[in-house]
Amino acid sequence: MDATYSTTAEEFRAKIQSFLADNLPADWQGVEAMPEAERDPWLEQWRQRLHEHKLLAPDWPAEYGGGGLSAIEHVVLMEEFTRVGAPTGIPTDTLSINMMGPTFLVCGTEEQKQHYLPRILSGEDRWCQGYSEPDAGSDLAGLRTTAVLDGDEWVINGQKIWTSHCHLANWVFVLCRTDPDEKKHRGISFLLCPVDQPGIEVRSILNAAGGRDFNEVFFTDARTPAHCIVGEVNDGWNVTNALLAFERGGDATTVPLVVQALLDQVIEIAKHEDLLTDPVIRGKLAALQSRVSALRADGLRTLTAMLEAIERPGSASMSKVQWTELYQDITLVAMEVLGADGAAHHGIVTSVPLPPSTSSGNDPATWLNHLLCARPASLYSGSNEIQRNIIGERVLGLPREPRPVAG
Ligand SMILES: Cc1cc2nc3c(=O)[nH]c(=O)nc-3n(C[C@H](O)[C@H](O)[C@H](O)COP(=O)(O)OP(=O)(O)OC[C@H]3O[C@@H](n4cnc5c(N)ncnc54)[C@H](O)[C@@H]3O)c2cc1C
Repeated sequence: MDATYSTTAEEFRAKIQSFLADNLPADWQGVEAMPEAERDPWLEQWRQRLHEHKLLAPDWPAEYGGGGLSAIEHVVLMEEFTRVGAPTGIPTDTLSINMMGPTFLVCGTEEQKQHYLPRILSGEDRWCQGYSEPDAGSDLAGLRTTAVLDGDEWVINGQKIWTSHCHLANWVFVLCRTDPDEKKHRGISFLLCPVDQPGIEVRSILNAAGGRDFNEVFFTDARTPAHCIVGEVNDGWNVTNALLAFERGGDATTVPLVVQALLDQVIEIAKHEDLLTDPVIRGKLAALQSRVSALRADGLRTLTAMLEAIERPGSASMSKVQWTELYQDITLVAMEVLGADGAAHHGIVTSVPLPPSTSSGNDPATWLNHLLCARPASLYSGSNEIQRNIIGERVLGLPREPRPVAG
């Protein structure tokens, strides 16, 4: 494995470094270091700046307002942003720019691309994801929300849950059963629905840290035009999977940098607390560092495969299991190092965008908040048990787990 980047990639890195140096505030310590009231307005301005420099959607084609960057340029850009803790957008951009935009590009019509992509870039449209339901999470195809055509409109009834940032979004992409007589994975359509309407009620659910990240969304005769569909009627499962691939892949080389930055902070605190000579703490930190280094090496292997257009089955699942469990274990060791002080302001503000990019709790500068925000990481984007099933079946070739009997 060659861990060096090409000269061209390094030249591009220098360009990004100078963009960041010229545009971030001189005393930049991360968004979380700003007074709370200043964060959102600054993020909106920063997003606009990224858009003007074609850095908001770096890998979308230039003809749709993207940066048209190559895969390696995008990786270099993400590495530099991660290194200094610069946001790549606002919270809803995870869904709008990283998932919905690419889904339009791959599965949408030309008309949809021309209509929706500029509105995502301008910030006029902000998307959220209506997949999970109270009885359909890992078993997503068991979803029960229905949509029925009434003239030139779909009428949607049902409930979604854990809908991240729906309170900040004006559009939801919603998976609906459009043919109840079809088999489970068929008869599902991928509809696009405006959030601000009488038929939609958004109720927030506070996360364990007290932050407002996700919601329950109730559809009672909600309406959307018949043309607001991606893919064919009853063929939404293919679109669903295309979007999930964008959700789970793509961060193999940058996530290790984020996790390393978090671990470095714990090591700093252990030094400060004079605990680096404690054999138990030292052993735990060394074990975590080995895992971060292994994650980084694996990320580079995925990058090499990507650049050589070699498929690496299961790599997104392997990366997801490794980084989420590391993230959780680092926060546990941090609490051990800090003891009761873990619940207090620790003085070292996290300047890295934690995965997921918005860990909004009561006080982002406490390790207790990190500890709580790390818990759901092994659930979202498909639980780690499901990822292990994928690795077992598709990478190791183990027998498929027994499926429930139909009905
Ligand atoms: C912070 C956060 C944000 C989220 N944001 C969104 C969002 O924006 N939009 C959205 O649609 N959803 C969202 N989700 C929901 C997420 O996708 C689901 O939580 C996830 O798919 C698991 O589904 P579930 O919660 O229904 O758990 P279940 O599917 O009921 O699973 C319960 C437990 O059983 C295990 N399990 C289930 N099936 C198997 C199996 N076959 N083999 C082994 N173990 C199994 C699971 O791993 C889990 O531990 C979010 C979740 C979280 C935590």
